[in-house]
Amino acid sequence: MPELHPQTQLIDRFGRVVNYLRVSITDRCDFRCVYCMAENMTFMPRTHILSLEEIYYICQAFVELGVNKIRITGGEPLVRQGVVGLLQQLHGLSGLNELVLSSNGSKLGGMAADIKAAGVKRINISLDTLDPAKFKALTRTGDLEQVLTGINAARAAGFQNLKLNSVIMKHRNHDEVCDLVAFAVERGIDISFIEEMPLGLVDGRQRSESYYPSTEIKRDIQNRFTLNAVPYATGGPSDYFQVADTETRVGFISPHSANFCGSCNRVRLTAEGRLLLCLGNEDSVDLKTLIRQHPGDMALLKQTIIAAMQIKPQQHHFNIHEQPIIMRHMSATGG
Ligand code: SAM
Ligand code: SF4
Repeated sequence: MPELHPQTQLIDRFGRVVNYLRVSITDRCDFRCVYCMAENMTFMPRTHILSLEEIYYICQAFVELGVNKIRITGGEPLVRQGVVGLLQQLHGLSGLNELVLSSNGSKLGGMAADIKAAGVKRINISLDTLDPAKFKALTRTGDLEQVLTGINAARAAGFQNLKLNSVIMKHRNHDEVCDLVAFAVERGIDISFIEEMPLGLVDGRQRSESYYPSTEIKRDIQNRFTLNAVPYATGGPSDYFQVADTETRVGFISPHSANFCGSCNRVRLTAEGRLLLCLGNEDSVDLKTLIRQHPGDMALLKQTIIAAMQIKPQQHHFNIHEQPIIMRHMSATGG
């Protein structure tokens, strides 16, 4: 009988190879962005969320199954105590090529150098506006100056690449897209514009009223900048363009106007330990209960992850014009 080789690739029913894991290490955050959270959020009790050891253990299983990129996110990952130690540990996983982070930037001023030293290659930093009053309105609790300090600290720390992420909403910040591109160009960093996704109830607002499609954002930017298409593949859903004669790439993440599911290569681990197969569907597997009931049984964990690929949906079903069918907020999900 030929020897059975352990499986080293995760493949779903549609032939998509899953090699990218996004991990929400906390549902908590120091901001309350209007598109992400309600003003009064109830966060999960600490015993409901994975410990750092459990997060590492699950990540180890994924890397042994062929995942070569991990993004640490949240909530705001940098509010979780011990995050730098976790990053250091993950960086040591053999087979992991890219350890990257998403952050709102508020704590980067004091942490960027340690995060770089821990082995993080790239950081995505959220920045939706350059106007301090609008920043306060959009984040409810955030301070623009603190985030700008964080961006400067990240630049000084010398990451391989920094990218800004801007969620664009009509009448809130859609008039700032060119200024945001100029900000990125001046600093030689990339920027992605994101269409708002209907995840969780956020406030009384209808999301469709503030819908501002990528096609319009792109048109606005082209009034001031020349964009050249580039074949830049990050393994993400962005379509990228180079701003002519600059270092800056502009990306568009368009869940509504351009479905990106055909090339999906990712799954998510939520803060409470659910393996979420698609951002826009509820199909998930409870890995927390599994590893707490069978501590140390790595073979069972891997088998469960391999089996979970069979329920990865073909595509998301976001509809900006309907009440969200998905009651999970982006913060608990690992956006
Ligand atoms: N706190 C970190 C941050 O803000 O970058 C990481 C977590 S946050 C959930 C990750 C990304 O999701 C951010 O770029 C944020 O703008 C985006 N996001 C949150 N809610 C969203 C929504 N409803 N639609 C589209 N993007 C959203
Ligand atoms: Fe916090 Fe990020 Fe959500 Fe804003 S988008 S509330 S910074 S988790």
